[in-house]
Amino acid sequence: MLPSETIGHIAVNVPKVELHLHLEGAIPLETLFHLIQKKGEPSIENIDDLQRKLTYTDFDHFIDTWIWKNTFITEERDFEWITYDVLRSLTYHHVKYVEAFYSPSDYFGQGFSTQKITEYVIKGKERAYRECGIQCELILDVVRGNSLDLCMQQVEDVEPYLGKGVIGIGLGGREQKYPADTYSLVYRQAKQKGFRVTAHAGEADGPKSIWAAIRALGCERIGHGVRAFEDPELVRLLREKNLPLEMCVISNVRTGVIPSVEAHPITEYFRKGLLVTVNSDDPTMFNTTVSREYSVLAEQLGFSLEDLKRISFNGITASFLPEKDKESLKCSFEKEWDAVLDTFVQHS
Ligand SMILES: [Zn+2]
Repeated sequence: MLPSETIGHIAVNVPKVELHLHLEGAIPLETLFHLIQKKGEPSIENIDDLQRKLTYTDFDHFIDTWIWKNTFITEERDFEWITYDVLRSLTYHHVKYVEAFYSPSDYFGQGFSTQKITEYVIKGKERAYRECGIQCELILDVVRGNSLDLCMQQVEDVEPYLGKGVIGIGLGGREQKYPADTYSLVYRQAKQKGFRVTAHAGEADGPKSIWAAIRALGCERIGHGVRAFEDPELVRLLREKNLPLEMCVISNVRTGVIPSVEAHPITEYFRKGLLVTVNSDDPTMFNTTVSREYSVLAEQLGFSLEDLKRISFNGITASFLPEKDKESLKCSFEKEWDAVLDTFVQHS
């Protein structure tokens, strides 16, 4: 096996796609600390305090901390530089294309509107594209627990931005408490309007939640899908339909969904030929990066460099990009992979 340092360099430098990333969970630590200082929070005096705050006893504790963090976004216009900072930070990890969730309804209590947040996020992502060359499309997070009316309204609110920055909708929030079936009407309407659809499923809940995301919501991808292995028939279906899984290994360990990296089913899914993608979910909240997700696969789960390359290409295949854009991205990834392997493997 290659030395750990070499794997780390390769993981950072190879081109990658992120399909499961929450903008508000990816705010660089320094940016988040700046927001906290702006509003004021006596318990967080420095970055170390903040880092300590971002550890969780279980999934509910994570959601509570998520909500706490949101209180420091005090103006709609904050979303412009948050989005820019997030995307710029991803370019250090050679992420070329992102499909990012954003969750406007988390900020309704602060009096923000879906439209205004969407506009500022789009401004931020356009600036990141101009200045850093990173491409991003947005996925509106319709949150479990919100009423059907509210979710429908949100879909209508972002419809004018569809194809102009917004590409789809996703379902997040407390999976065990609010089954996916409840939101089937929202998904049907969104699909009719042309939104692409995904949902968190099989993360905090079992296979029935994934079945619901597929059958009741008609999802084109599954967010996480960790617990699919509990139902072999479901695993067969995922393979037959080539339904992509947006996997986020470190996130699952941090929230206690699985006990350790070694216990994660990603290796089994990958070896069985499922369309597995690797993502960072909420990198700031989970003290990870997408590069780290790749190196963990190599160092702890026995993935070869060829396997990692396949994972990065799976990200393109599973994206909501038009076919011609996928092909051109694959061509540039091929060249970049060759260059990185040439630099780090030949000389190690
Ligand atoms: Zn997520």
